[in-house]
Amino acid sequence: MSVTGAPAKQCPDCGSELDLTDVDEIGDLVDCPNCGATFELVVLAPLTLAPFEDEEK
Ligand SMILES: [Zn+2]
Repeated sequence: MSVTGAPAKQCPDCGSELDLTDVDEIGDLVDCPNCGATFELVVLAPLTLAPFEDEEK
């Protein structure tokens, strides 16, 4: 099954496109494939991501 028009949003840090295919619930996390930053889904509509602080840095 091919998926076209998958939801994608740009990383606020580096501008890379984020893959939000598996992000559909508040609190889901997505990692930027380019810079490694982690974001948390905070609003579903419109899709809004907030930086997620990882204390294990
Ligand atoms: Zn990034």
